[in-house]
Amino acid sequence: MNDEWCNEINNGAAIGLKIKRKLASKQSDFQLVEIFETEEFGNLMMLDGCTMVSSRENFLYHEMMSHPAMFSHANPKNVVIIGGGDCGTLREVLRHKGVETVHQIDIDKVVTDMAEEFFPELCESNSDPRAHIMFDDGIKYMAEAADNSIDIIIVDSTDPVGPGEGLFNHAFYKNCLRALRTDGIFVQQSESPLLHLPLLLDMRQAMLDVGFSALQHVNFPQMIYPSGWWSGTLAKKSGEFTGFRSDDAKALATDKALQYYNEDMHVASQALPNFVKRAFAEQ
Ligand code: SAM
Repeated sequence: MNDEWCNEINNGAAIGLKIKRKLASKQSDFQLVEIFETEEFGNLMMLDGCTMVSSRENFLYHEMMSHPAMFSHANPKNVVIIGGGDCGTLREVLRHKGVETVHQIDIDKVVTDMAEEFFPELCESNSDPRAHIMFDDGIKYMAEAADNSIDIIIVDSTDPVGPGEGLFNHAFYKNCLRALRTDGIFVQQSESPLLHLPLLLDMRQAMLDVGFSALQHVNFPQMIYPSGWWSGTLAKKSGEFTGFRSDDAKALATDKALQYYNEDMHVASQALPNFVKRAFAEQ
């Protein structure tokens, strides 16, 4: 950060937002949590110098990390979110009326405290009786989760460095697979196909290695993340991805709560550019 710009520098490029002022800064037990007021993007949260959430464009990430997986499942009732401390993904999951419980496990309470203060709109569903907000290590939580108990697991984590590192390996994926019900779906933010293709391929391979039966890649824009192009990887515990509940997706999208996701974007997000298609085919 210099006097006027907040930059995340990654792979020789800087993603910058012009800032008005710093609103808060706290070194938690896990990371440096900073909040800025920007000129054009509302408030911005950074963790250890990496851009996480801005008021203006977080809907892209939160809607795409939740709805494609939720609508690819016939009837998701029990959902677990690992990470997700800003609570935006939780809010999206709770839009699904059939959901009975959502357990959110973020390692860092400071992230949620700051989100409640500076991103209250993301936290508007935190008091929903179906929401159980916990502060613990998601790796430990999944290691202790009961077999065949969860319909959807969403990993809304930081990058694979620091506390998030152990959320990107075989041991973690094995526990997630075990804890999912037979028709369960796992989804994890899988970084930028342009900048982080080797990592994306490693993640996919590890998911297949532990026994997930099918993968589905979704693309979405995310201006404040490196390259502006981000992705999620969905994995099925058994069987193939055989479509999604498009009528339900359409109904949710037309109630004006959603700004990005709809039944057309669900399909469009799965289209693969040639270099990605070739890389996946060669796996
Ligand atoms: N959208 C962001 C991105 O893609 O860069 C990430 C959002 S942020 C909510 C990610 C959260 O993951 C942080 O709040 C962080 O505390 C949490 N986290 C990192 N490692 C974790 C772990 N081992 N267990 C639980 N939460 C973790």
